[in-house]
Amino acid sequence: MPPAKTPVTVDALLADDGPPQRRAIAKAITLLESTRADHRAQADELLTALLPHTGKSFRLGISGVPGVGKSTFIETLGLFLIGQGHRVAVLTIDPSSTVSGGSILGDKTRMEHLSVHERAYIRPSPSSGTLGGVAEKTREAMLVCEAAGYDIVIVETVGVGQSETAVSGMTDMFVLLQLPNAGDDLQAIKKGVMELADLVVINKADIDKDAATRAQAQITSALRLFGHHGNPAHAQAIHAAHATPGSPEAEVRFWLPRVIQLSALLGTGVDAFWDAVLQFKSLQAANGRFASRREKQALAWMWERIDAGLKQAFRQHPRVRELLPQAVAQVAAGRLPASTAARQLLAAQAGQA
Ligand code: GDP
Repeated sequence: MPPAKTPVTVDALLADDGPPQRRAIAKAITLLESTRADHRAQADELLTALLPHTGKSFRLGISGVPGVGKSTFIETLGLFLIGQGHRVAVLTIDPSSTVSGGSILGDKTRMEHLSVHERAYIRPSPSSGTLGGVAEKTREAMLVCEAAGYDIVIVETVGVGQSETAVSGMTDMFVLLQLPNAGDDLQAIKKGVMELADLVVINKADIDKDAATRAQAQITSALRLFGHHGNPAHAQAIHAAHATPGSPEAEVRFWLPRVIQLSALLGTGVDAFWDAVLQFKSLQAANGRFASRREKQALAWMWERIDAGLKQAFRQHPRVRELLPQAVAQVAAGRLPASTAARQLLAAQAGQA
């Protein structure tokens, strides 16, 4: 759908007036997703105007392999949160949709009650571009939803490819969904993804309670081993502090990633899940990590986009375009060292060759 001719106004986005606001959000996101240069300029202007109204939501990332129960969980959680007075936006990053045009997450029947609820807004994954590009659109769509008053933004992704890193890099808390048999084959769980998790949820506990409890214990010890955000020493220090409450170390109140079990289908454990989220949130606010995580994310995002922009400008440079095919062929054939080719091409772009 091409962006509509009438521009989206900030007022239309801010007004909590039901269908007109939803149309404004959809229009704004379509504008953001457009690749036309003039649309991009309009989109940048809109985002800048919206920025003072953003940042007030809680951003929750959710990942897990297809079939683990993400959409069932988000539906249950979303309705639970709406029941508590929240407004919930759900955005998705689906790497499969950029490769095949098809979508693992694109099933229309997903979240059938939440998707029609007036206090929920659900937007599927942008379906073209690189993962970096798709993540950029999703991040911007998140800002639009925040400005529109959605105070919980859920960003969902599948556990394939690098999309988990992208989602953890744009959310305040990253949750990994697992099946009850996850503990039987810990090797299959990617270490890098485990390190990102602030909370691991064993879903479908109703099917096999014993297996879910086993998985909970196994993943809990694996988390200690892996460490939080890649730092095992940090995890051990935190664990020691938690193990001896009242000790001076216990005052160092850092979050220790947790594992909980629930049934998204029956809705059991969802309130305990939300309690854990709220504890995480208040701890992160108290120890300053909530703000520092957002700060780091915004700067990392800026550099990521600068890198992508430089690379694009490089590839489009006339002299580089001229020299690139031969350089690629020579490097592939082993006739030219890769680093020499890179230096020559960079020099060509800089006008030195
Ligand atoms: P997604 O691909 O991760 O979004 O997974 P879905 O939410 O589509 O769930 C896949 C299947 O698992 C569906 O048939 C769900 O009904 C089922 N399912 C999801 N959560 C649960 C649960 O907690 N218990 C049981 N027994 N089934 C579940």
